[in-house]
Amino acid sequence: VTSEVDAAIETLAHMLPAAAPVPVLGAQYDLGLAWPHFAVGRGGLGLAVEHSREVRTRLRTMGMPVTRAGFVGLHQASALIHDVGSEQDKDRYLRRIFTGEDQWCQLFSEPGAGSDLANVSTSAELQGDAWALNGQKVWTSNARHANLALVLARTDPVVTKHQGMTMFIMDMHAPGVEVRPLRQADGGARFSEVFLDNVLTPDSMRLGMPGQGWGLSMHILGTERGGASDVFVVPVDGLLDQWRRRRHLNAPALRDDVTRMWIESIVIRLNSERQQALGDSREAALLSAVAKVATSEYTQRLSSVLAVVLGPEMLVHADYDTALAEDLSPDSAAAKDFATLSPHRLAIRSRAMSIEGGTNEISRNIIGERTLGLPGDVRVDKGRPWRDVARA
Ligand SMILES: Cc1cc2nc3c(=O)[nH]c(=O)nc-3n(C[C@H](O)[C@H](O)[C@H](O)COP(=O)(O)OP(=O)(O)OC[C@H]3O[C@@H](n4cnc5c(N)ncnc54)[C@H](O)[C@@H]3O)c2cc1C
Repeated sequence: VTSEVDAAIETLAHMLPAAAPVPVLGAQYDLGLAWPHFAVGRGGLGLAVEHSREVRTRLRTMGMPVTRAGFVGLHQASALIHDVGSEQDKDRYLRRIFTGEDQWCQLFSEPGAGSDLANVSTSAELQGDAWALNGQKVWTSNARHANLALVLARTDPVVTKHQGMTMFIMDMHAPGVEVRPLRQADGGARFSEVFLDNVLTPDSMRLGMPGQGWGLSMHILGTERGGASDVFVVPVDGLLDQWRRRRHLNAPALRDDVTRMWIESIVIRLNSERQQALGDSREAALLSAVAKVATSEYTQRLSSVLAVVLGPEMLVHADYDTALAEDLSPDSAAAKDFATLSPHRLAIRSRAMSIEGGTNEISRNIIGERTLGLPGDVRVDKGRPWRDVARA
C-alpha cells in the first residue's frame, strides 16, 4: 500500500522463521500491522480500512502466525478501546488483545434484555472507588476462556432505559463471577450463562462516562455487524466442488439451487467491496446492516443446499463429543473461520448467524426505519424512567 507498509512487512518477514507466535504478533502490533487502520503507536498506521484488509491478506500469504485472540477482543473490544478508551486503557489492553495473551467476552445479553438490550437490569452501584456488579448475563460467547469482559450494567434506574447504563471492563476471575457453560444442539458449548454476585470492579475500569453505556454498546454492535458480513461468508467453492463430484445429482432443480448460491456469493462480494470503498461513512454503516442480514441468510441457504448434495454423508463425521472437546480446548477461543467447520457443524452453527449480534428481524427494523423511512417500531416505554416500566 505504501512504502512504510512494505518496510514494516519486510522487518516482520525477517523475524518469522525463528520466533514463537506471541513475540511475532507483538512485533506485528509494534510495527503498526495489527489493525493497520488504527492510529500510529496503537497497532496501526492510520491507513484507510480498505487498505487494512489488503495488508492482512499479504500477511496471511506470507505465513504469519494466527492470533489466538477471539472475535470479541480482536474486533469489538479493540475498536471500542481504540476509539473511546483513555491512553492508559490503550496501553494496558490493545497489544495484549492482539497477541492473544488476554481473552475477552461480551456481557451484554440477559434473560430480559436481548433484542431489547436497553432493558439491561444487571446493576452497578458505586461503593467508594469500586462498582459492585450484580445480575445475570446469558449467551456469553467465549466466557469459559476469557479473563476480561465488557459489561453493560445499569447505574441509574431513575432515567430512561437508554440513558441509565454504563460500560465496564471486568476481570472474569474476580470473586463473585460464576460461569455456567450451556450445551448446544451440535454437542459444542461455546457460550455460557454468567452470574455476577457483588463483583467489585475499580472505577478505573469504567469505559466512558456513567450513562454513556448505550452509545458504547451501539459502537460495539455496529462493529460486530460490520465484521459479521466478512466472517459469516463461507466461500461457495466447497459447495461447487461437492456438487461436481456427484454428477448423478445433476438434476435441473438442484443445478438451479447451486447456481443461485454462486450468484448470491458474487452479489455479496460486490456489496462488501462497495462497503469497503465507502470507508466508514454513514452509508457504509447502513450497508453493513444489510450485509449482516444477507450474509447470514446466504450461509444458512448454502448449508441447506450442501445438505441436499451430501445427503446422509453429511452425518458421517458428526460427533457430539468431538464437538464438545473442540470447544473445551483453549484454542477454540480463537476467532473461528466458519469455512473450516464440518458441514454438519456449519448446518447447525449457521442457524445462529441470524440471531447473534442482534437478530435479522431487528436489523430489518433498523433498515426499514433508518434507510427506507418506514414508520418506527412500537415503543411503549419511550420517555419513561426505567424503574417505572412494567417487566416480567
Ligand atoms: C451464537 C450466539 C452468540 C452470542 N454471543 C453473545 C455474546 O457473546 N454476548 C452477548 O451479550 N450476547 C450474545 N448473544 C445473544 C444475542 O445477542 C441475542 O440472542 C440476540 O440479541 C436476541 O436476543 P434474545 O435471544 O433474547 O431473543 P429475543 O429478544 O427474546 O427475541 C425473540 C424473537 O423475537 C424477535 N423480536 C424481538 N423483538 C422484536 C421486534 N421489536 N421486532 C421484530 N421482532 C422482534 C427476535 O427477532 C427473535 O426472533 C449470542 C447469541 C448467539 C446465537
